[in-house]
Amino acid sequence: MEPILDAGAINTFYGRSHILFDVSLSVGDGETVCLMGRNGAGKTTTFRTLAGLTSCKTGSVMFKGKNCTRFPSFKMARMGLGFVPEDRRILGPLTVLENLELGKIPGRKGPWTLDKVLARFPILKDMTHRLGGTLSGGEQQMLTIARALMGNPDLLVLDEPTEGLSPVIVAELRELIVSLKRMETTILLSEQNIRFALTVTDRVFIIDKGHIVYTGTVDDFKRETDLQRKYLSV
Ligand code: ATP
Repeated sequence: MEPILDAGAINTFYGRSHILFDVSLSVGDGETVCLMGRNGAGKTTTFRTLAGLTSCKTGSVMFKGKNCTRFPSFKMARMGLGFVPEDRRILGPLTVLENLELGKIPGRKGPWTLDKVLARFPILKDMTHRLGGTLSGGEQQMLTIARALMGNPDLLVLDEPTEGLSPVIVAELRELIVSLKRMETTILLSEQNIRFALTVTDRVFIIDKGHIVYTGTVDDFKRETDLQRKYLSV
């Protein structure tokens, strides 16, 4: 099966600092894939490169069979890559409803409408007129994911979605991801929370100091306890 996303030998720099070294990763249609690694390993830089927010110097990004290397972020969004950044980027002075409307992407069709999104996120339904800036961290995380779904993405990319969230919200997030998987949503996420990742993902990539050091199925990865200790501070 041809992957929906296929990144090959990506090298990304911030100024003169070489951050990603020949990073390659792929995501199959309907798959959930997790990029794991410690703080500063290069997860966000990888996702920013894929989403067109940072340009790679060399390497390729194939998305839905098309060469999208160095496409700007708006083009990647229109192609169907829905990026949920680690810092959430909720617009504080806008209402929940307005934030959701901003997620719509002209020309993109799919299962998600405003009504369906609000039905899936009842917590947001009860606060459509509240300002984004007044939401708790967990509510904001749900809003950013809901906003990305409003664009009916073919690939949902979640950068460390559990970061800073309480165990109750992490459990809700797990339920959400499992339900999205049931709808055959294709998901790429990054995580440091290994217990969370292992319950939602099909395949694992580990990144360390900008290098991909492991690729395997979740079942294979569960047995790699030395590797987990070495790269993930387990
Ligand atoms: P975290 O969990 O802390 O977000 P990460 O795995 O997502 O970690 P990145 O944010 O991609 O890692 O950072 C990878 C490396 O790039 C780190 O060494 C970081 O210090 C460096 N870095 C990140 N952003 C910049 C920037 N704007 N300019 C220079 N270096 C940066």
